[in-house]
Amino acid sequence: MKYILVTGGVISGIGKGIIASSVGTILKSCGLHVTAIKIDPYINIDAGTFSPYEHGEVFVLDDGGEVDLDLGNYERFLDICLTKDNNLTTGKIYQSVINKERRGDYLGKTVQVVPHITDAIQEWVMKQARISVDDDGVEPQVCVIELGGTVGDIESMPFIEAFRQFQFKVKRENFCNIHVSLVPQVWHSGEHVALNFLSSEPNTTGEQKTKPTQNSVRELRGLGLSPDLIMCRCSSPLETSVKEKISMFCHVEPTQVICVHDVSSVYRVPLLLEDQGVMSYLCQRLSLPIEVRPRKMLTKWKEMADRSARLLEHVSIALVGKYTKLSDSYTSVIKALEHSALAVNHKLEVKYIDSADLEAATLQDEPVKYHEAWQRLCSAHGVLVPGGFGVRGTEGKMHAINWARKQNKPFLGVCLGMQLAVCEFARNVLGWEDQFHLSSFSDANSTEFNPESTHPVVIDMPEHNPGEMGGTMRLGKRRTIFKSGTSVLRKLYGGVEYVDERHRHRFEVNPELKHHFEKKGLRFVGQDVEGERMEVIELEDHCYFVGVQYHPEFTSRPIKPSPPYFGLLLAAAGKLQGYLNKGCRLSPRDTYSDRSGSSSPEEDMSELKFLSLY
Ligand code: GLN
Repeated sequence: MKYILVTGGVISGIGKGIIASSVGTILKSCGLHVTAIKIDPYINIDAGTFSPYEHGEVFVLDDGGEVDLDLGNYERFLDICLTKDNNLTTGKIYQSVINKERRGDYLGKTVQVVPHITDAIQEWVMKQARISVDDDGVEPQVCVIELGGTVGDIESMPFIEAFRQFQFKVKRENFCNIHVSLVPQVWHSGEHVALNFLSSEPNTTGEQKTKPTQNSVRELRGLGLSPDLIMCRCSSPLETSVKEKISMFCHVEPTQVICVHDVSSVYRVPLLLEDQGVMSYLCQRLSLPIEVRPRKMLTKWKEMADRSARLLEHVSIALVGKYTKLSDSYTSVIKALEHSALAVNHKLEVKYIDSADLEAATLQDEPVKYHEAWQRLCSAHGVLVPGGFGVRGTEGKMHAINWARKQNKPFLGVCLGMQLAVCEFARNVLGWEDQFHLSSFSDANSTEFNPESTHPVVIDMPEHNPGEMGGTMRLGKRRTIFKSGTSVLRKLYGGVEYVDERHRHRFEVNPELKHHFEKKGLRFVGQDVEGERMEVIELEDHCYFVGVQYHPEFTSRPIKPSPPYFGLLLAAAGKLQGYLNKGCRLSPRDTYSDRSGSSSPEEDMSELKFLSLY
């Protein structure tokens, strides 16, 4: 097993996760089996209890693990399937050590950070690295470990110490360190001094400063780890003299200083690294058993990046949510939209709308805000209502759904979005609401928001899982069986009998009321294996009105967009009917092609798979 530890210096939030995933991508494109571990030095056991305001989206894995959104990067880049133990937190390590202590496993010894916590970290990593993450069940050969935060943080000290010991345990040829640092750019004009790092407008005239990198490398060395590659984040390419300076002061060869400047698309990062010889360095440093040269397989990434740079037509999707000020809260949703937009050859524009702004109360208090929100909604090509918790903004979401339904606008409701689509239909088509708006009791609703409703169309249907917090959530991969041969979504999935998708919810459509909806054209085309839980809704006589109880965004991939999202984008771009009429095929103009003309049979196969699937 080869271990690549990725640490960060200077500041966090500069793309360490993307760089680590990209390193994994290059290795994978050489035919190696790659896995990833993300270490979060916070004390929470997992991300399940985080507020999306605080920490961004909670990513859900097949096994029901609620983990840091960075695991999504690894799954998307490497097209792998991780488990909850691939996200290691301080909480989990301490919990395992304390459990052992309670069991008496330490035979009365004093339990300490060194060696007990540090040993537990090393054991965890060694054990987890061997768990297969591919469909074929093959044991990984390389494990990329990303350590969250920056070197020097109090929280990450036990982890750094664990890896300091680990490098000797596993031997030099099996362990290396990539340190991601920041090179800010400063320029003087007259009396002004301006600082520019990681801007969207690269500035080539400023001076690139190496001191923060020098300091963070010194700090890392002081803790006993020496970087093998220093990856420098900067807004424009590093000048040769700057590279040389970093090499000299940080005690590495200039070839070990890698420039990761701002690029137009994350798909370019693997190529950017590969162009600077990262693969050949790692190959030699870790004596990797390489079978295939990476170039060919990376063409796909290049093609995606080129394609996204060339897009001319726009498609806009209104994202009607609650945490719209924080795009991190919807990372996987946005990625899924991007994957699908790229597949239909359109440039994606996401129109964030805070659903509370669509409500009557906003019209009274802040009419401008209200009208602007409606204007944004009405000018979008499609509407997406994502998952969520809590009553705030749910009425506004129902207004948006009502508008999409009546105006024949493409609509996708995910989890809460689907539940609210059912509530909206009950109120406005079945008439289950108080006509005089005197009391909300007779308005159809979810019991999550109105436990007293006389029309509880969405009810609590817990799945009893052992555990404490969140123990009644239905979490992780569950099967949905398609009940109808005419379902549009089923066709988009390739006509399959069933799909396995990831869930994270507690409430569900009340199955007893099903026939009322179906009589009026809202069909429940997908159900769970027992036929008790309603998983997919589709509205008849509408261009695309689909709701799914699961979260398809978690399994969307750049080259395998998630079908419910793909359908939304096809419909929003006016291509859905054509696609369905052609037996679920894109027009040749929209399909990916390997222009290099030198693809291997293996690549041709994956190309074909892509075309036939979607
Ligand atoms: N709050 C809803 C439930 O618990 C929806 C959850 C979600 O959208 N992830 O069922």
